[in-house]
Amino acid sequence: MSAVLIDGKALSARKREEIKKKCEIFEQEYGRKICLAVVLVGNDPASEVYVRNKIRGCEATDIRSLSFTLPQTASQNDVEQLICALSADESVDGILVQLPLPKGLDEDRILNLIPTEKDVDGFHPVNVGKLLLGKETIVACTPMGVMTMLHDNDISVAGKNAVVIGRSNIVGKPMAMLLLRDHATVTICHSRTKNLKEICKNADILVAAIGKPEFVTADMVKDGAVVIDVGINRVNGKLKGDVDFDSVKEKASYITPVPGGVGPMTITTLLENTYLCGVRRERAKS
Ligand code: NAD
Repeated sequence: MSAVLIDGKALSARKREEIKKKCEIFEQEYGRKICLAVVLVGNDPASEVYVRNKIRGCEATDIRSLSFTLPQTASQNDVEQLICALSADESVDGILVQLPLPKGLDEDRILNLIPTEKDVDGFHPVNVGKLLLGKETIVACTPMGVMTMLHDNDISVAGKNAVVIGRSNIVGKPMAMLLLRDHATVTICHSRTKNLKEICKNADILVAAIGKPEFVTADMVKDGAVVIDVGINRVNGKLKGDVDFDSVKEKASYITPVPGGVGPMTITTLLENTYLCGVRRERAKS
């Protein structure tokens, strides 16, 4: 058996068309464009690429983008002042601070300054708490993008055994919460998990968010499982996922490729989150 490929690139292109249409309707209704402010501190090359791609995503969906670059030497106060100014700016719907921040800056303090209604990354503790409580909120882009991929492929989650490998705040934990919200029976595995292989073999839906190239091998996968590969690892100049794609695709029913799987959906979900923040802010005024 060879798995069906979940094409994140194609889905992302379709979703961007939908977001663009919704943003145009927003502009007609409220007389202004949805606006995302992106803050980059320092000159980490990978972060510069991510920021550039986010700005391009805005351009493709008719979202106005504001880009702010502070030097590597920026102080905590410099960054906080910028966030406060963007928080007070009525025309800004979403604020994104590109991570990681340079060493010496207090990341938590900076992220906590972003008003919850402009928190397009869904990292603010209040938004994380709402996700845990099952309330309407803005959810971290990568796991939310994975849910969109599952829904788009009519993969039902309710009652399934879902295993998430990885417990980071930006991927693993919110991923587990979203699967639970859709009624899966969820197990979270991490670096201290014992019997990882046995647990994974029980998964109907297996999500790998580890950061180790080709870590998940065919012997860890149940026949017919849905395998979602979040990993992005650079090996000899090539991008590799956390899943050994060639062997696992022979056992899985669905699989996401790397590149072209979860990655493109992450930025598209950021654009969707920005739109949602804009709409909710306008509705809160009336
Ligand atoms: P992280 O380093 O914060 O977390 C990795 C997790 O893997 C940890 O919780 C750790 O306990 C677990 N882990 C490590 N070794 C393990 C082992 N041997 N067995 C079981 N669990 C183990 O990483 P992250 O930020 O969650 O990212 C994970 C991967 O996803 C990375 O490759 C990252 O580049 C990628 N990523 C992709 C996107 C995207 O848009 N596709 C977005 C974010 C992260």
